[in-house]
Amino acid sequence: MSSQLLEKKVQDPKKQLAALLHESQKSLQFEKLIVKGYEKVVKVTDKKVGLTAIIAIHNTMLGPALGGTRIRKYPNFDAALEDALRLAKGMTYKSAIAEVGFGGGKSVIIADPKTEKTPELLMAFGAAVEKLGGMYICAEDMGCTGEDVKVIRRMTKYVVGLPHQSSSGDPGPFTAWGTFRGIQSVVKRLYNSDSLEGKKVAIQGLGNVGGFLVDQLFWAGADLILADTDTEKLRYFAKKYRAKTVDPDQIWKVECDVFAPCAAGGIINDQTIPEFKCKAIAGCANNQLLKDHHAVMLKERGILYAPDFVINAGGLLNVSIELEDEGYNPKLSRYKVHHIYDTLLAIYEIAEKNRESTHQAALSLADYRIKYAIGKRVIPPTFHHSAE
Ligand code: NAD
Repeated sequence: MSSQLLEKKVQDPKKQLAALLHESQKSLQFEKLIVKGYEKVVKVTDKKVGLTAIIAIHNTMLGPALGGTRIRKYPNFDAALEDALRLAKGMTYKSAIAEVGFGGGKSVIIADPKTEKTPELLMAFGAAVEKLGGMYICAEDMGCTGEDVKVIRRMTKYVVGLPHQSSSGDPGPFTAWGTFRGIQSVVKRLYNSDSLEGKKVAIQGLGNVGGFLVDQLFWAGADLILADTDTEKLRYFAKKYRAKTVDPDQIWKVECDVFAPCAAGGIINDQTIPEFKCKAIAGCANNQLLKDHHAVMLKERGILYAPDFVINAGGLLNVSIELEDEGYNPKLSRYKVHHIYDTLLAIYEIAEKNRESTHQAALSLADYRIKYAIGKRVIPPTFHHSAE
């Protein structure tokens, strides 16, 4: 073979990537963890690049497991495992209600996203996802950006939400629109009109989702009360809309129509429930209830709750559309996200009829769909994006 040809062969990016993947997979260690109720849970390590990750697949009855990759410095391995398990299960329910034809999964990489996230670590994680052969599809999550997913994509096609033309990009605005529609649904249920004109909405967290939500609520005529631990962000939005602000540890005590948790989970708990002065809770945060029974306590206090895994499915709906045969279509996504409103109204009805919490009503609906494979995927997902 001439040296020119040889050079061409060596530089072929596809072959280089395949060789890299092969090398990467050789140094990966997979440890199967047996967890009751979960289809597959693996601990993945690669000492060479300092990777310790967990991939938790809860249920694939309706389709391959889809869920983000969280990169976080956990206090210990058990805390990371608990987070991965809880989030994976939540994704099963979220997908079942949103009827996207996916199952539930989630992964965590135990690392400080500010100091320990390297391309080598992300690529090793990608090689692990590839090894699961499509049983799990990953996306961005806390500590993991769209740009990071692009790096993971070098090793595996089983990703969604890339900042590419052929992908769906940032899910934040779609999650925000679904949350906005969810806020309209609680207001409709409470006041028989979904107008937000003059309604007081207290928002906890003005991040990727909360920031978009603030804009939408302002233009719909709502009175805003804001809190964020990031004082710069808080000042920005307060100034933009002349909105009231409160300290982060006061936001759930504000008298308002709707409290919208858009930051961390666990905000509905024994301590906060007696302190709520809202009529409804509707926000995008995952795992808002510290424990399932807190939904019952909310019901007893007469506070209407929009179940988190229903109201915050906008991002999931959006990424799921990029895996359709026809490719990503934001208009179709918008249409589906818009209807989160109707799904929530139906859930409030069911809860009232069954005299149960809205959370329980949503869980039962999801369980029913999983049991009878309602909405099961028939056409395998199509990955339209490339590794570039
Ligand atoms: P983000 O990290 O961009 O924003 C979170 C914001 O909350 C930040 O501005 C942060 O400073 C603030 N914050 C943190 N702790 C706070 C506290 N105690 N009080 C007040 N503010 C606090 O995250 P995001 O993407 O906007 O997601 C917000 C929530 O929604 C998370 O629970 C996430 O899991 C969930 N969620 C997000 C999406 C999505 O599309 N991004 C989809 C579904 C669910």
